[in-house]
Amino acid sequence: ALGIQCDHVWKYYPGATTPALRDVSLNIGPNEFVTFVGASGCGKSTLLRTIAGLEGYSQGRVSVDGRLITAPGPDRAMVFQHYSLYPWLSVLDNIKFCRQLKTHTQGRTSADVEDAAGRADALLRLMGLTHVAKSYPAALSGGMQQRVAIARALMSRPPILLMDEPFGALDAQTREVMHDLIKHVHKLERTTIVFVTHDVDEAIYLGDRVVLMAPRPGRIDSIVNVPLPPD
Ligand code: ADP
Ligand code: ADP
Repeated sequence: ALGIQCDHVWKYYPGATTPALRDVSLNIGPNEFVTFVGASGCGKSTLLRTIAGLEGYSQGRVSVDGRLITAPGPDRAMVFQHYSLYPWLSVLDNIKFCRQLKTHTQGRTSADVEDAAGRADALLRLMGLTHVAKSYPAALSGGMQQRVAIARALMSRPPILLMDEPFGALDAQTREVMHDLIKHVHKLERTTIVFVTHDVDEAIYLGDRVVLMAPRPGRIDSIVNVPLPPD
């Protein structure tokens, strides 16, 4: 797992007169599960996408283990609210294909020496997808599709998993199941997770630390350590 550092990060979208991020400083330790929570428009998604390397920033520094972030990389996998699976590929091929693509565009990772079929199999089991491996995304519920998207993101053993309202489109019951699943994934895969939500209960249930964003866009209001439950 790798840590993430944000130092005095400012971001203005092109043409904007107010910043989407104003002087954000934040340290996320390796293997932490951190949640960003706040009202719509407060900058959660911008901060996450900046860490992902999907957004540039205007001032400051974003780094992963001291390395400056300027673009997406194989050390950071992203999961979105809308699963963005390939509809014409089976569940198993969705999980395997993206890693092949990443290997071509982003270089080999340590996982590439490992047997891809074995890794995909293990992820199907971890995510409870074995029985639908040959199905196509359209045949699956939203919850199952998101499981596929998470499995796909984990395929290359990324040290960091970035999740943008991943369960926002799911019903309450499915969301509860997904919460326990992602906690299990965090424990087992030892991934650093940064998880964006507007749901305070979700942020507290999942996070070791909760980053509260101020309603005025772009500011961190406070960072709260969530106490561990007694054994
Ligand atoms: P969220 O669910 O994160 O609140 P939004 O509905 O605010 O998402 O935004 C959806 C998409 O529109 C995102 O890709 C975001 O980057 C983009 N977007 C949001 N606000 C603006 C804006 N003022 N101008 C241009 N694009 C925007
Ligand atoms: P959140 O994820 O907390 O809903 P965002 O990070 O999506 O917030 O947005 C933060 C601010 O930046 C909002 O004021 C939003 O309108 C603006 N914004 C987001 N995406 C874009 C974009 N692509 N272009 C211009 N403004 C944007």
